[in-house]
Amino acid sequence: MPLLELRHVTQVYGTPPRQFTAIEDINLTISEGEFVVLVGPSGCGKSTLLRIITGLQRPTSGEVLYRGAPLTGVNPHATIVFQTFALFPWLTVQENVEVALKARGVPPRLCAQRAIELLDRVGLDGFENAYPRELSGGMRQKVGFARAMAVEPELLCLDEPFSALDVLSAEALRGELLELWTRGQIPTRAILMVTHNIEEAVFMADRIVVMEKNPGRVLADLRIELPHPRSRKARGFLETADRVYALLAGQTQPEPIELGAALSEPGRPRTLPDISLNKLASLLEHLAEMPQARADLYRLPEELAISSDALLSLTDAAELLGFVTVAHGDIELTPLGLAFAEASIQARKEIFSSRIRRLPLFSWLLEMLWAAENHQVPRAVVLEALESKFHREEAERQLEIAVTWGRYAELIAYDDSTQTISLDPTGISALVQSELAKALQK
Ligand code: ADP
Ligand code: MG
Repeated sequence: MPLLELRHVTQVYGTPPRQFTAIEDINLTISEGEFVVLVGPSGCGKSTLLRIITGLQRPTSGEVLYRGAPLTGVNPHATIVFQTFALFPWLTVQENVEVALKARGVPPRLCAQRAIELLDRVGLDGFENAYPRELSGGMRQKVGFARAMAVEPELLCLDEPFSALDVLSAEALRGELLELWTRGQIPTRAILMVTHNIEEAVFMADRIVVMEKNPGRVLADLRIELPHPRSRKARGFLETADRVYALLAGQTQPEPIELGAALSEPGRPRTLPDISLNKLASLLEHLAEMPQARADLYRLPEELAISSDALLSLTDAAELLGFVTVAHGDIELTPLGLAFAEASIQARKEIFSSRIRRLPLFSWLLEMLWAAENHQVPRAVVLEALESKFHREEAERQLEIAVTWGRYAELIAYDDSTQTISLDPTGISALVQSELAKALQK
């Protein structure tokens, strides 16, 4: 019998008419002895899933079974370690761990001794009497781990536990956790960890569950057979990382590009990724310097000094704009991407402008501005319209990205004092020209 089983779990947030499905029909089992890692773009519902699994939240529909029995309320056999662990600032390190032991009913005379043992195990020997504020982020997170282990959970859930740490502390703590786990030094029967660091996933996992978003679904469930301790340079490691990247970045499918495709059409428009346009340019320039204008996705975070999550968003954007293609863990510049990388500042703006005008969200926005009096529309009106397709937070983000991209492309302008979006004069002439071209073709 699996330790944990999710059957058709779906989570819908919000109330009609502004509802959206955060995760949909998730089926997942975790057995004793497994270290399962969940990866996926931000917003795909990873944290939601952990809250459901630990019983902090009831799903909209579907079942959660723990050792075969339906879970009702908080699961006493599971614990979550969050990205930044909340320690009690007025208690010492040791007292912070003792709190968890006392809550479990461990006799007070044993608490101190157990707490010291646990702190020793995570490498905090000698810091028992320090206060949280005296510790580095990495050490505070270790106290968090010691406290989670004090609970002796059968199922240890970790939500991006290393992402707030500096590189060295993260690496040390990963090693310590793996050692405790592989040597069976903790009573934990299974670990479920969320991360958006793919190397971390391949380094630690027995299974990697890859999720996609909008709505959050399981895309793949990969068994990782590499023996521990794993070397990041081993071929099997690199191949696995490539596979996960390829799954996350998606295999390139030509975007159906339709001028005038409006948001009122059925289906959800593809969302604009939240990226830095400078970093996008750096990525394209970097690829332009590679042999055959192609690179291994896996190596790029290090080469560009960005996180793997940021790389995925950049890849998504570059693909959406037709600047790159992605397949089998490789990324390759298209002729257009190469042209962009080699163009002057002004020519880049023009290429960018011609591309974003084809995206449904922009063509809709431009049409709206084109039709409006003085070619301007209050931000609130655009936002309201977007909220019919996105939930509020996402609508605001999409609008912000659209304004940033539109400004860079000199298609649209935004006046902060009046909160009005308008067509840029350059944008007007670009549109007039394309209208003319259309008319001439008829
Ligand atoms: P992840 O951890 O993968 O980044 P989350 O589970 O935090 O994803 O969120 C998934 C989606 O659900 C996001 O779009 C987020 O904005 C939304 N969401 C999360 N929690 C709530 C909530 N309590 N109410 C409404 N929306 C939520
Ligand atoms: Mg999260």
